[in-house]
Amino acid sequence: MLEITGLVAAYGPVRALNGIDLSVGQGAITAVLGANGAGKTTLLRTISGLLSPAAGTVRLAGRDITGGKPEDLVRLGMAHVPEGRGVIVELTVEENLRLGGLWRRDRAWLRTGTTAMFDLFPPLARRRHRRAETLSGGERQMLAIGRALMSKPRLLLLDEPSLGLAPRTAAQIVATLSTLRTESGLTLLLVEQNAATALSIADRAVVLNLGRKVADDEAASLAADDRVRRAYLEM
Ligand code: ATP
Repeated sequence: MLEITGLVAAYGPVRALNGIDLSVGQGAITAVLGANGAGKTTLLRTISGLLSPAAGTVRLAGRDITGGKPEDLVRLGMAHVPEGRGVIVELTVEENLRLGGLWRRDRAWLRTGTTAMFDLFPPLARRRHRRAETLSGGERQMLAIGRALMSKPRLLLLDEPSLGLAPRTAAQIVATLSTLRTESGLTLLLVEQNAATALSIADRAVVLNLGRKVADDEAASLAADDRVRRAYLEM
């Protein structure tokens, strides 16, 4: 689904990604792990077109999308939920969801998709007419994911969905992601600082350190690798 080769990205003189190769299989959950500043957020931003790479290529389903504009990439089936929950706080829950669905140019989907999101995240249904600024952190994260799903992505990029959430809320959101993969075959690239949470639902995982990939394996093997756990995962 997603093939990345030799990806380099920099902020001025700071090289945040230093030649990353990554392969994300269709229908799989791939976790991107690593400490603060490892380059995880930069990797997602470079894939989704928010940042232009200095070198390397990104392919989505065989098509070269390197340096593509974010809005074009949404039309090709990629959705990105940034860290810090990308919702528009002045709009209601329902308005945020419909906004995410406008890309599809399908009026019927705006209605059926919104209902599907309320089924997926029941707390949002109860608050559909509330402004997003009144939501809790967990509800905002649900809304951000729901809004991204309204664009009917084939590939969802998720940056730290459990950040700052109570453990129970984080577990609920992660369980929903797992259900989505099983039921709709969604492909997920999941950035997480909480390695245990991510490895519990991921098929594969890569570990970044200072802009380089230092491990890439099946999630279960990585979780059992003492060297990687001690050196990079704080678990
Ligand atoms: P975090 O979990 O803290 O978000 P991360 O693994 O996502 O960490 P990045 O945010 O991708 O890491 O940062 C990678 C490197 O790039 C770090 O050294 C960081 O200081 C630097 N960096 C990130 N954003 C910028 C920016 N806008 N300008 C300059 N340097 C940046």
